Amino acid sequence: MHPQRDVDLLIAGAGPAGMAAALVASLEGLDVLLCEKSNQVGGTGSTSAGTLWIPGNSQSKAAGFKDSAAQADRYLSALVGENTQRALRDAYLATGPAAIDYLSARTDVQFLPCGMHPDYRSNMAGAALAGRAIVPVPFDGRLLGDDFRRVRAPIPEFMLFSGMMVGKADLGPLIGRFRSVKNFIYSAKLFARYLADRLRYPRGTRLMMGNALVARLFYSLRKRGVPILFDAAIEELTGDRNGVTGARLKVGNDNVLVKARKGVVLATGGYAHGQQFRDRLMPQPVPPYSLSFEGNRGDGVALGESFGAALAHKAGASGLWAPVSITTRADGSKGLFPHLVLDRAKPGLIAVNSAGRRFVNEGTSYHDFVLAMFESHATAPSIPAYLVCDAEFLKKYGLGIVYPGHRKPQKFVDNGYFASARSLDELATKIGVDPTALRDTVARNNRYAETGTDVDFGKGDTELNRFNGDVQHKPNPCLGRLAVPPFYAVAVWPADIAVSSGLATDADARVLDAAGKAIPGLYACGNDMASVMAGSYPGPGTTLGPAIVFAYRAARHAKAAPTTL
Ligand SMILES: Cc1cc2nc3c(=O)[nH]c(=O)nc-3n(C[C@H](O)[C@H](O)[C@H](O)COP(=O)(O)OP(=O)(O)OC[C@H]3O[C@@H](n4cnc5c(N)ncnc54)[C@H](O)[C@@H]3O)c2cc1C
Repeated sequence: MHPQRDVDLLIAGAGPAGMAAALVASLEGLDVLLCEKSNQVGGTGSTSAGTLWIPGNSQSKAAGFKDSAAQADRYLSALVGENTQRALRDAYLATGPAAIDYLSARTDVQFLPCGMHPDYRSNMAGAALAGRAIVPVPFDGRLLGDDFRRVRAPIPEFMLFSGMMVGKADLGPLIGRFRSVKNFIYSAKLFARYLADRLRYPRGTRLMMGNALVARLFYSLRKRGVPILFDAAIEELTGDRNGVTGARLKVGNDNVLVKARKGVVLATGGYAHGQQFRDRLMPQPVPPYSLSFEGNRGDGVALGESFGAALAHKAGASGLWAPVSITTRADGSKGLFPHLVLDRAKPGLIAVNSAGRRFVNEGTSYHDFVLAMFESHATAPSIPAYLVCDAEFLKKYGLGIVYPGHRKPQKFVDNGYFASARSLDELATKIGVDPTALRDTVARNNRYAETGTDVDFGKGDTELNRFNGDVQHKPNPCLGRLAVPPFYAVAVWPADIAVSSGLATDADARVLDAAGKAIPGLYACGNDMASVMAGSYPGPGTTLGPAIVFAYRAARHAKAAPTTL
């Protein structure tokens, strides 16, 4: 006999989607159980930037920004198209602000407006430059007490001194700490807090971005006393032709049967580390790298399929991508650094393929950059591609893991992070690209830097480019010369930050079968659910926005639904 639990709603996966579903269901009065395969909460969410794309959100409205669901719908119609998932999109846009307000009013899950943060196709009709994105309010991890160790840490590449989180706003004062008294005091306070933290905790407790989001969700769940089973993987759905009535969990070495009167929510983070799904759904050659949590093996998607669920998948649109460079960590293991916003758009950086030619506007979004890599790869090897800059650029803006003004860039040459050379010819030889073409590419870029117009790819033409460029740099904030040796080149590869294909659902996150009929008692959200954006990447927060909104809709639907038992 297996031990048995009876609940209203079982939720599998304690990432942002699963925790949000559990929290809302509990607030709605349901008896909830959340099971998590690993021994920590957070999943990929804990390593993310934590931004949510919520058109028309109240936080931005209160800060004076104007936006509406209708404007966002116009944008999505142009970007995603009209014929896909209309009901889901309508529900998403209609519910987004309400879902965030609901959490803000009743829990510790609190958000701030990002202000200026352009959509990723900022030149399309309906795109917004500001007011659509929100971020979690930073969180003091000390409030969690012993539970702090249950919050998964960000990737080492995103922390200073192996444990200190810094946000975008911290970077200026930290880099310029010896340039003004104000900066010095600001930085000294951050260091002092971090040192004090390390006397008691395994890492800094000043949590930002995605780490703040998952810690806030976890803290709110703990406050409400929602039971969370750790080391508890959902392995099987139970039920019959009338629907899902529960599941079998593997808890440590034991099997636990859970009867769930209102059903099961799958929120196991998608299939990013499930090789069979990658082979089946991703572009060829299948990119070997993923930034998702390594425990996300497609369990939810496989369980859904085993119960007759359909996948929603658009060919060529299975992932949301970022270019990554490969780092060597202090313990010798390898890590991935995503080149999201800090270096590519800055003046004096170009990206080239193996032919030594540019193939993209380097300042485009990380997702669009990788799509351009795929396209270029069809005619000239472009995986990896190389980000190339000179010594002045490295000093001023940094490159990948090498922060601006780093005193020992040679360390990164020695450990193989990037190549460096006194001349472009030598650099080209070291990275295996055509030297004549690279010289010519740099000469063209340098001419564009003078005129301020990139005739080839339009770098600096869009608001998004300029937002991530250097406003002080003239005439074009994104175009600069590469002239001062040594020159540097870092290899970048495509990696998914989230998967886009997943279980087909309706607007209440109910999983659909092959005939398009909802399977009673089965819900999916987060990356187990096929993205409402169908593989497009409209703006910052494209996965976490829908993860929270559809978790909210699933939980509220479950509350109103008849029991499946
Ligand atoms: C560097 C980086 C930055 C990002 N920034 C952003 C951003 O700013 N905005 C945005 O929208 N998106 C961002 N993303 C993407 C975002 O983090 C993910 O899309 C999001 O975390 C997915 O949430 P989820 O709850 O579906 O999955 P996850 O956060 O991955 O959580 C899944 C959980 O399910 C658990 N699990 C797996 N299998 C089982 C099982 N069988 N039983 C029980 N539990 C299981 C896992 O252990 C994990 O805890 C970023 C990603 C990266 C890598």
